[in-house]
Amino acid sequence: MDSSPSVFDVIIAGCGPTGAMLAAELRLHDVRVLVLEKETESVSFVRIVGLHIRSLELLAMRGLLDRFLAHGRQRPAAGFFAAIPKPVPPGLDSAYAYLLGIPQPVLERLLEEHAVELGAQVRRGCAVAGFAQDDEGVTVELANGERLRSRYLVGCDGARSTVRKLLGVGFPGEAARTETLMGEMEVGVPPEEVAAKVTEIRETRFWLRPFGNGIYSILVPAAGVSDRAEPPTLDDFRQQLRAVAGTDFGVHSPRWLSRFGDATRLAERYRIGRVLLAGDAAHIHPPTGGQGLNLGVQDAVNLGWKLAAQVGGRAPDALLDTYQAERRPVAEDVLGNTRAQMELSSPEPGPQAVRRLLTDLMDFDEVNRYLIKKITAIDIRYDFGEGPDLLGRRLRDIDVKTGRLYGQLQRGRGLLLDRTERLTTGGWADRVDHLADPTADLDVPGLLLRPDGHVAWIGDDQQDLDAHLARWFGEPAG
Ligand SMILES: Cc1cc2nc3c(=O)[nH]c(=O)nc-3n(C[C@H](O)[C@H](O)[C@H](O)COP(=O)(O)OP(=O)(O)OC[C@H]3O[C@@H](n4cnc5c(N)ncnc54)[C@H](O)[C@@H]3O)c2cc1C
Repeated sequence: MDSSPSVFDVIIAGCGPTGAMLAAELRLHDVRVLVLEKETESVSFVRIVGLHIRSLELLAMRGLLDRFLAHGRQRPAAGFFAAIPKPVPPGLDSAYAYLLGIPQPVLERLLEEHAVELGAQVRRGCAVAGFAQDDEGVTVELANGERLRSRYLVGCDGARSTVRKLLGVGFPGEAARTETLMGEMEVGVPPEEVAAKVTEIRETRFWLRPFGNGIYSILVPAAGVSDRAEPPTLDDFRQQLRAVAGTDFGVHSPRWLSRFGDATRLAERYRIGRVLLAGDAAHIHPPTGGQGLNLGVQDAVNLGWKLAAQVGGRAPDALLDTYQAERRPVAEDVLGNTRAQMELSSPEPGPQAVRRLLTDLMDFDEVNRYLIKKITAIDIRYDFGEGPDLLGRRLRDIDVKTGRLYGQLQRGRGLLLDRTERLTTGGWADRVDHLADPTADLDVPGLLLRPDGHVAWIGDDQQDLDAHLARWFGEPAG
């Protein structure tokens, strides 16, 4: 294929939440980005998705959270694990300790607008159909035969990723064993009648939750595992509701209808050469706990600054490989917890007994807190080697003398928090900001944050700091 000079540094296949977030993260570092999206229009369904604490923190870090809050509804950060209702554990370690429910199309629009504002190009109606990589870059072929050249290609093209398939990366895991119908629609019976039936039916994969204005979110087991080529219809919902509840509640006027399975699969590799995978293209799992989109957005923030450094020619050796090393285990953990949640939702007597036991155990604050932190992704600790517990974790938003800590991270640069007032960022000042005497709240002398907000170093020794600056940010300037 063509090996003419690259017009773009990075081509992203897919303008879903992962692709749009990645484009914006790359633009923070002036990377020339083109996003190719196969659909001509943005998504039409109005599925409400939940943004969990870590994603809200990332949006706050990039100065985006207020835009999202204006379009969403805040709910308590609780009741996620297998939908077992429990209260929010007190004193959750975040300034953004809630769930933000927001329609997925709105979320996608806001992320895309942000990427475009920062200078990303988005071309709709362009499906990636092929590519070939060589030592200098990647030639990307569109379905219409057009060829484009870039230095890197990232497949953010969802569960059925063309990029993943063409790359030949294995996607092992378990096929779907059960399928569930989920949708939003109006019911034709009084709310009391709905509530009485919901209380009576003991099927865990069944609910009708009022959204206001007579609209309900409805979940009901599908009849069997289908080939999923055809989207579900309102009649499918009626039939399954009658099978489970003895009535179809007079459902009508659907807003959106979907079917999801409990397949769990994880890409064997996240990168081969100049081609990478992120979001659903790299991992799929049931939507229990509402984690998939969050996971993809967090992949994007982990990858963005590393790929930008690689493009800029200043990435330390193997920095780009830390993307898979850090994010694949996180996805593996999500696959595990969603699989566990699906088991707990089985109507079989064994899983039901385990569910009752777990429901009791979750009355212990530590158990409830552990599960909430897992689902909301604030418990992640990347393996940066030996060190204090905070090393490798994300730092919560705290007050600093210039305002809020996350306000300092909007440009996607590293940040040195220095209480010693004698540390310096030296030859890395073009990539890492320095905040002297940041706050009394911080009980360590010095702390280095990566652009994704994870703690990369703690200490007070300049030589040690320099070694860590080089590890994460490459050679010093000059
Ligand atoms: C019923 C249900 C409820 C859910 N609820 C939640 C929730 O509450 N919270 C949560 O975190 N997650 C939830 N999810 C999961 C979430 O929707 C996905 O994880 C998320 O959309 C993945 O984002 P993505 O950008 O990686 O992939 P996608 O959203 O699938 O986006 C991929 C994009 O790539 C495009 N594309 C595909 N092929 C090509 C190609 N060849 N060339 C160019 N473009 C291409 C597609 O058109 C699409 O726009 C739910 C899922 C379901 C089914």
